[in-house]
Amino acid sequence: MGDALFAAIRDIDRVAKKQRTCSAKTAQYLSQMEDEIRAAKAKLEKSASREEKKRLLKELHDKLLTLRLPGQIEDKQKEFYGSVSRLGKSVDKHFKSESFGDRETNLDDELLDKVIANHFFREGEPQLGQTFCEEANVSVSEDLKQSFLDMHVVVSELKNHNVLPALEWVKEKREEERASPLEFKLHSMQFLRLLGSQGCKVALNYARTNLSQFANTHMLEIRQLMGCLLYHNNIARSPYKELLSEMHWETLRHTFVRECCSTMGQACESPLLVASAAGSLAIPTLAKFATVMGKKQDWTTMEQLPVEIDLGHEFTFYSIFACPISRDQASRDDPPMMLLCGHVLSKQSVTKLNKSNSKPFKCPYCPSEQKFSDCVEISF
Ligand SMILES: [Zn+2]
Repeated sequence: MGDALFAAIRDIDRVAKKQRTCSAKTAQYLSQMEDEIRAAKAKLEKSASREEKKRLLKELHDKLLTLRLPGQIEDKQKEFYGSVSRLGKSVDKHFKSESFGDRETNLDDELLDKVIANHFFREGEPQLGQTFCEEANVSVSEDLKQSFLDMHVVVSELKNHNVLPALEWVKEKREEERASPLEFKLHSMQFLRLLGSQGCKVALNYARTNLSQFANTHMLEIRQLMGCLLYHNNIARSPYKELLSEMHWETLRHTFVRECCSTMGQACESPLLVASAAGSLAIPTLAKFATVMGKKQDWTTMEQLPVEIDLGHEFTFYSIFACPISRDQASRDDPPMMLLCGHVLSKQSVTKLNKSNSKPFKCPYCPSEQKFSDCVEISF
């Protein structure tokens, strides 16, 4: 798999190189053509007689024909497309795994298109998103588009180290009077900016007004910020230089996007990115599995894989509950229920245990007895 991957990367590099040379050559031919046309135009403007103009145009026409510029541009295009099609063939050759590729997938095309469209808007590519929506015939609600646009205005301001639009957003959205860690981070970045650009007095005033409310929750960070006051002339060479790192701005942008998306009821990360990242993590195991299984078992039609692929903590989004009796995963219709003793079973299993409906039933794991009405539905 690794070798195939490197071979494919080499082929892709080759195509990229070809694209660069073809594009440079095409640009050169185009500018050559432009020069010829401009020169002819200048001559045409100077010439008075109709005959002369006719002759000049003929001259230009012949010149372009002898230079064969459009033909050469076409040749370069063909050369490039040829290398792209060779790349496709080479990828097919390197990643030969018939049983792996043959697996039937019941993808919901419309849902997939919606996820792709959503991705473009959330990544700040509204024009691309709009074109995609038109071509794929899907729609994204105007409200959501606007919210993503607003989010990106704030993000681009954060890229310029301007926290004010983000602070405004945070204040508008904050619940009751509770200030969030994001708000603290925004204020602390603004404090450092003011300290660098306008000096101690302005920064200290800013801290008094805006940072004091965080004394109970962020004292350690506030102490560090106050320490910076001692080095206000040269924080970059002080023990606090790490606070100026661009990494903090990056984290800030990321945190803002997460909070913003969660208020919109959107996933914190792009579902398309998460799905493709999870897929690329799972592919090596799947490919190995496909080879091991070989023709022994037709895994291409199995509903569930016989092996579990652990994608790590990053890809665990919520807890799941499997009933210890039925082994079924909890669902909306079959939620987990806690008995009086604290043991948890699925609702269906509890219903089965509660055969008589009136008499108390015994917990399968301990001697405790209870009625159905004593059990409570729980959610994680
Ligand atoms: Zn029990």
